[in-house]
Amino acid sequence: MKLKMPCIKCFDQDRIQEPVFSYLEISDSNIHEATCARGHTYLVALTQHKHEVLFEIGAMALADGYPREAIATIAAALERFYELCIHIICASRRIPEGQLDATWRLVDAASERQFGAFLFSMLLWSNECPEVIDNKKPTLPNIAKSNTRTWKEFRNAVIHKGLLPPEHVAIEYCELVYAHINQLTEKLTSEHKAEWLAQAQRQATEAQQKNSEKELIVYAVPTTLFLARGTNAAGSFREALKQLGDYREIYTR
Ligand SMILES: [Zn+2]
Repeated sequence: MKLKMPCIKCFDQDRIQEPVFSYLEISDSNIHEATCARGHTYLVALTQHKHEVLFEIGAMALADGYPREAIATIAAALERFYELCIHIICASRRIPEGQLDATWRLVDAASERQFGAFLFSMLLWSNECPEVIDNKKPTLPNIAKSNTRTWKEFRNAVIHKGLLPPEHVAIEYCELVYAHINQLTEKLTSEHKAEWLAQAQRQATEAQQKNSEKELIVYAVPTTLFLARGTNAAGSFREALKQLGDYREIYTR
């Protein structure tokens, strides 16, 4: 996925009215050096959480007709979201970042350990046993739920055994994850909005400190999960997917 960004310098310096775009290749880093077709270079800092970017790529895979890739990528988005929840809860408890990083390294190589860390972080934060969507089951026509796999088994079969899922099952999985992430996001941000924003802008803040002489353009991509937090949020993943089809060309290639 490449992000399409209008060059600010074309507008600011040259007063060129026709938009000139730079294309940023999405990567692990949120910091990009962009060059427009007229040769302006500038530093761009995206303020998306990793899970939002992954979820967007998964949604686009589904829109483009690749349900298997959608499930694999949206499952990765969910794992990164759980990591973010741990970071926000730790930040809200004023846990020193170095201590959190050192502890995270102990669980970093195993997703089951990370998930366990998420469950107990949520328990300590909310005093409630967290909901586990992995234990739920897909709805398959003419098959009793007792004879179907859990979402966890289904997802693992897709990722590790090359199972090709039907589109309607992929949509059901995305719907489940979409609602789960949005619900937890609302819960966490209602108390820890500052920590949420600080995590989203962490890379931008670090880049600005390292390159204080350079102008940094901070850019929030209007991803599906970003829009889900707004006032005109889609009521379901299906609706969000339809909206994505309408606007994706504005900001991606
Ligand atoms: Zn330019």
